[in-house]
Amino acid sequence: PAGGRPLLEVRDLSKAFKGVQALDGVSLEVREGEILGLLGPNGSGKSTFINVVSGHYPVSGGEIIFGGRPLQGLPAHRIAQAGIARTYQIPRPFGHMSVLQNVSMVAMFGSAALGPEQATREAWKWLEFTGLQDRADALPDDLNLHQRKFLELARALAARPRLVLLDEVLSGLTPGEINDAIDLIRKIRERGSTIVFVEHVMRAVMALTDRIAVLNHGKLIAQGPAAEVMANADVVSAYLGT
Ligand code: ADP
Ligand code: MG
Repeated sequence: PAGGRPLLEVRDLSKAFKGVQALDGVSLEVREGEILGLLGPNGSGKSTFINVVSGHYPVSGGEIIFGGRPLQGLPAHRIAQAGIARTYQIPRPFGHMSVLQNVSMVAMFGSAALGPEQATREAWKWLEFTGLQDRADALPDDLNLHQRKFLELARALAARPRLVLLDEVLSGLTPGEINDAIDLIRKIRERGSTIVFVEHVMRAVMALTDRIAVLNHGKLIAQGPAAEVMANADVVSAYLGT
């Protein structure tokens, strides 16, 4: 499925926080149907990329074009309705709602905009998809890390996004849980979503991604097929901190 036309195009994207240039002139494309791995050392700007594309933070400069339409300047809920969903590196469920209600809320207010009954049916579907159906009535605080991460995935998917931005969904999981998550992410792509996959677990990056892009100090330093990029001298020295 990789190699389709661009679904997301980011041009000269910048984001400055007080004293920190978190993204510095990043230009890249995410093609329809692909899994693009977004890599880079801690603090290189990966989460910031997700935060600005999803409208969580305003950009400082540059363009974000999704399905041919400019997105920069739109509030997060409009971007979600346009078909972009994201997970948080630290899961952020609604703490006072059950697992089922958490997923139903997204189905009601995401791009699908379903009524309450339909949203509940949709939510059950994603709980089954992520293996959380037995925890439907639990509160998020009662879930283990693996279940909280999968709840993040279920919430992102319930919006029926065209593009899913995954921020370190595998961190902290056991090897067996990582295998389950790899299978799940493959199924998400098979269902037609395009994915930006921010991850440090190299086994998963190699197994899942069509291409990778590498950030260092907010700049894009390499992009291309994973094996090629990981052999790039600039990438190796960014990871080694030299
Ligand atoms: P990564 O996800 O690659 O580890 P981040 O995108 O979280 O990196 O951070 C990139 C840089 O931007 C870091 O220097 C970080 O401290 C800074 N940063 C990120 N978010 C904020 C924020 N909300 N306020 C101030 N600085 C931030
Ligand atoms: Mg991060």
